[in-house]
Amino acid sequence: MAGAAALACALWLTLPAAPARADPPAATRAQAFDATLARLQAPASLNLSSDAYEAELQRLRVQLPPGDRAREARLRAYDCGSLRWQDAQARLAYSEQAVALARAMRDHESEARALLCQAVYLGRTRGSVRALPLLTRAIARLDDGRFPRLQAEALELRGSLLSDLGEQARALLDFQRARAAYRRAGIPGEVESLQLQLAASYRRIGDWDQAARLLQPLLALRAQRGDAEGIATVRIQLGYLAVESGHADRAAREFRAALAAAAPLQNRYSANAARLGLAEAQLAQGDTAGAQASLRAAAAGFHADRDDESDALLLLLEGQALAREGRHAQALERYRRAQPLIERDGNLRYQALLYRARAASAQALGRLPQALADYQRYMELQAALQARMRLEQSRLLEQENEIHRRDLENQRLRAEAALRQAELDAARRVRRWQALALVSAGLLLALLAALAWRQRARSRALARLALQDPLTGVANRAALEATAARWLAAARREQWPLSALLLDLDHFKAVNDRYGHAAGDAVLRACAAAWQAQLRGSDLLARTGGEEFCVLCAQTDAEAAAAVAARLLQATRALRLPAVDPQLQVRVSIGIAQWERGESLAVLLDRADAALYRAKQRGRDRCER
Ligand code: GH3
Ligand code: MG
Ligand code: MG
Repeated sequence: MAGAAALACALWLTLPAAPARADPPAATRAQAFDATLARLQAPASLNLSSDAYEAELQRLRVQLPPGDRAREARLRAYDCGSLRWQDAQARLAYSEQAVALARAMRDHESEARALLCQAVYLGRTRGSVRALPLLTRAIARLDDGRFPRLQAEALELRGSLLSDLGEQARALLDFQRARAAYRRAGIPGEVESLQLQLAASYRRIGDWDQAARLLQPLLALRAQRGDAEGIATVRIQLGYLAVESGHADRAAREFRAALAAAAPLQNRYSANAARLGLAEAQLAQGDTAGAQASLRAAAAGFHADRDDESDALLLLLEGQALAREGRHAQALERYRRAQPLIERDGNLRYQALLYRARAASAQALGRLPQALADYQRYMELQAALQARMRLEQSRLLEQENEIHRRDLENQRLRAEAALRQAELDAARRVRRWQALALVSAGLLLALLAALAWRQRARSRALARLALQDPLTGVANRAALEATAARWLAAARREQWPLSALLLDLDHFKAVNDRYGHAAGDAVLRACAAAWQAQLRGSDLLARTGGEEFCVLCAQTDAEAAAAVAARLLQATRALRLPAVDPQLQVRVSIGIAQWERGESLAVLLDRADAALYRAKQRGRDRCER
């Protein structure tokens, strides 16, 4: 819901300001129409102000030769995305007609384009889940690559719907494919609407810095161009960014600025969205009266446009404002009406907010079992959101490049810490009620036990995450020890050989001294990746210290381990790091030890270390056992 303004942008790609000039007098209407359409389709038409785009559309409408159905189909496919549509029902009906006409004219491009309109409007009126299949069908049809730009727009749009639904990894994948398709369409540089979508995705994943990095230049660009609609859209995103990262004052400022930019516009959508955001910021500021005024204005605006997409959020925020005033019964009534809308939409974040708000009001009314049940639902949802966020981020980690990887890792840890804190707070409140519950109901105790059990399971899941070396992505020492314990037991039981290789980079201090610590880090990452590529799936590579690594090879004797070491030496010699220094030669020394029955991991590694010492003594860049 929060991303709806951004969503509007995905479809209503703003087009460049074409010089306002009269059509050549000799040209027929059809020729003039085709020329305008060609401008709309040209790569240079992206990243323009909405005004310029609307002016081009108006030209098309005027130039359409009467009775020319083929051109009318093309016009409608563009026109359905116009900002002139205020009425949500009317624009849905128009886009359905546009699809039907294009289909009748066998104009596949226009049909796909009009389908995008229909998908957006359907998503707005009946929930994003409904719009997805429509888009997926359009994308499949565009897969032949004949219309790369349209394909890009469709992918961008599906990405924005997925992002709305909380599927950030899939969304980002669509955005990447969209960017590639824009490139194929000959569109250079960054597409603004896509930047906006990316920012929304990063915001929803909790990567606020990255979101701000994308939004700030966009705002500057649009301010310079005087694009009021564009400015409002970016400011609304900045507002939500501030709300979610806990800066209510800044959020209120952004939403007010968005409103100031959007208020004079003919299309009221952005102004309504800004008022809604402002209400959320005002609630966070504790300005209940202000929030109520903003909500009333937003509700009136949406109502006038017969636009019910924001009803759920309106009800949720109204309920919260009422609760602030102590009118909990009325608040609960709003939540009751919001619930089916929020569930239909499938947005887990709003569901969590709803349960928490409902729990607070039930608690205030003394309905403790109901409050506890809602708190429990809230915590379950938070856990689900946390799990999803982690999943999304780890999927993203695979997709993203190395530099951004570490930023995200930090973000994730921070987000998890914040969530843990929120859970602790909730658990603390639950505990306060425990005294009451002991008297009134044994049931409560059972629920508390379930909560505590879940909490423990969650901490275990968190512990599992701590097994990766953040720099290189390979296992860390803790993971090595855990794996070794299992493997040594299996080797003992099943009597297979096992070997350890200790690797220490040669003269690594010199690398740091000469090129700096960041370059040293890059060397470590490159080594880990090169070695990993040489190992079998059953070998474990772990970083055990600064520039020291260990490889544990199951079912491998010293002879076979020496062959592995030879491969690792070779892979190290072949490493090239042109970004650091094309001449840089990386070398490593390796010590090998085969496990002996009854020996602990520590003793095994000691023997491998002694062998490593010999390798260093005997000239480095070699292995010894
Ligand atoms: P040799 O092993 O061949 O005897 O020489 P060396 O220069 O590699 O010896 P030493 O073990 O004394 O130096 C290791 C250096 O590794 C010291 C430290 O600056 C660097 N180092 C340790 N951890 C990291 C890290 O995480 N990143 C970077 N860039 N350098 C690290
Ligand atoms: Mg060392
Ligand atoms: Mg060394």
